[in-house]
Amino acid sequence: MKSHSITLGILGSGQLGRMSALAAAELGIRVHVYGPDKDSPAEHVAAKSYIGSYTDKRKLKAFANSVDVVSYEFENIPVETIRYIQKIKPVYPDDRLLEISQNRISEKKYLNDIGIPTTRWAAIYSPSDIDKAVSDLGAKNYILKTTRFGYDGKGQTVHRASDNAKKSFGKLHSNELILEEMVDFKCEISVIIARDKNGKSAIYGPMLNVHRNHILHTSTVPAKLDAKVGTKAKRSARKLADAVGLIGVLGLEMFVTRDGRILANEIAPRTHNSGHWTIDACSVSQFEQHVRTVCGLPVGNPTPHSAAVMTNLIGNDVKNMKKYYEMKGACIHLYGKLLTRNGRKMGHVTVLKPLRAGLK
Ligand code: AMP
Repeated sequence: MKSHSITLGILGSGQLGRMSALAAAELGIRVHVYGPDKDSPAEHVAAKSYIGSYTDKRKLKAFANSVDVVSYEFENIPVETIRYIQKIKPVYPDDRLLEISQNRISEKKYLNDIGIPTTRWAAIYSPSDIDKAVSDLGAKNYILKTTRFGYDGKGQTVHRASDNAKKSFGKLHSNELILEEMVDFKCEISVIIARDKNGKSAIYGPMLNVHRNHILHTSTVPAKLDAKVGTKAKRSARKLADAVGLIGVLGLEMFVTRDGRILANEIAPRTHNSGHWTIDACSVSQFEQHVRTVCGLPVGNPTPHSAAVMTNLIGNDVKNMKKYYEMKGACIHLYGKLLTRNGRKMGHVTVLKPLRAGLK
């Protein structure tokens, strides 16, 4: 496929779609976006946008017919929507990866089945399952999470083994939960992998991630970690990408425990917030890799030319931009969101420090 003749469709019209559309434009690829909201971050930069629900087959068909290939920037697109579009145009990554990562039980089960360790967990359908899981796992503290639609710490509660199971179960108003043993982690990291149709892959990270109020605050690269941690983390991401036959980009979030184990926590079947630094610190960003791989082009070299610290601009942070406009090495990215809300990701800033030799 020649890049100048490609039109890429992206389902979801948030900041990830916006940054992929900007990367696509650099490659001469047009992007059509589809999402439920008017005046969205991706709509501002796309060649064309479709406003519609993810179940509106008539609109979805028109969107699919207007593009050569489809991808998504948001993991809560219904799998049925992807399957419907797959009958019209190819969708990458495919429905299988999306389905696995949409449910925390299938996600953990899949990771464990292919030999990627996670924290110990149990599926919970009733309060008595909680009592059983706590005693089977011997967990002192545990987290209950809804299996679907949780993000940035929403849909999860932390408990002690002695808590009343009935009350804990009732708090999340769902009949399907996952109980996870609380990990006493040293730090949180992530790795992002891009894989093309020929199975060639490119990896970013590990990134060292710090959260505030359950929302990613900073990602730092290079992460000051034992080299073995980085090797193991990258090996897990490669194993996962190969197992699902990834065409596209995925992010794998992991905990590094105090005793040196690496436990996978979550799969993002898309570009990831912890990879935003790649726009400014690499010749090929995670967004360009996304566009390249789903459009049938080869993955590019992910080697960074600079060390980077990416800071998310959350809510009112965008009202205090003066220091960033004046800061040496600061690369500012604002998403064009008109409404500032508490906890809303409004933009990010990446501060660069050139590296003498590229990172390995
Ligand atoms: P998640 O929605 O699973 O990405 O969780 C959001 C954040 O909650 C993570 O980044 C961790 O800081 C924390 N967290 C989630 N699961 C666990 C766990 N099993 N043990 C300790 N902390 C966790």
